[in-house]
Amino acid sequence: MTPPLFDTHAHLHFPDFAEDLPAVLDRARAAGVTRFLTVGSDVDNSRAGIALAARLPGVWASVGIHPHDAASADASALAELERLAGAPRVAAIGEIGLDFFRDLSPRPAQEVAFRAQLELARRVGKPVVIHCRDAHAETLDILAEGRVGDVGGVMHCFSGDVGIARRCLDLGLAISLAGPVTYPSARALPDVARFVPGDRLVVETDCPYLPPQGHRGQRNEPAYLVLTVARVAALRGEPLVALAERLTANACRLLGVDGR
Ligand SMILES: [Zn+2]
Ligand SMILES: [Zn+2]
Repeated sequence: MTPPLFDTHAHLHFPDFAEDLPAVLDRARAAGVTRFLTVGSDVDNSRAGIALAARLPGVWASVGIHPHDAASADASALAELERLAGAPRVAAIGEIGLDFFRDLSPRPAQEVAFRAQLELARRVGKPVVIHCRDAHAETLDILAEGRVGDVGGVMHCFSGDVGIARRCLDLGLAISLAGPVTYPSARALPDVARFVPGDRLVVETDCPYLPPQGHRGQRNEPAYLVLTVARVAALRGEPLVALAERLTANACRLLGVDGR
């Protein structure tokens, strides 16, 4: 049995889990995954994440507007988000960032929403959860400009190479590895898993998305986090138990939670 793991990026309050969340959480706990950050992607589901965190032990919430929904980030949405950021058990602002792969919101709107939410994070003094897809140069520029190191944060579901990982670390961010590190086609991710210093690494499922190898094509869930941790331990040549302990300590420190 590995030490308790922290899934630093899950969407437990999304409709995908509405039917069977208690069973999902039972399987997670049986697998040793006992702490969760449930991440919002718009104002309404950020509110739902807060409600879930309020009633379930071991769950914290993150509130934010995803780049896909950036067009909705008007002044009133941002004001409401700032109010929500003060709710109990809100540990972070996110997910925020840029997604130039799917381009579901116009790029200028994505950049405006990203900058505004970085400022919001500074005002409320909480770390940020960053989503970045096919937009590393632009994302890193905005993070540097916004002095993200003052609040800290995590590059979630890291998809870059070692050079980009180094720049994220220089900005003061942690790196989060998700299911794709287990894929045979993982490209640069094995090198990244070996490169990131042990005190700057966290893990996540991003469930219901991105299941690890062996569960591809299914709904992802927190119990599968163990597969990602096992792969990272093998890549780093570290004992699973020692790595698991460190990953959880890193997550608690990053999110400013005491682990209860
Ligand atoms: Zn994301
Ligand atoms: Zn996500």
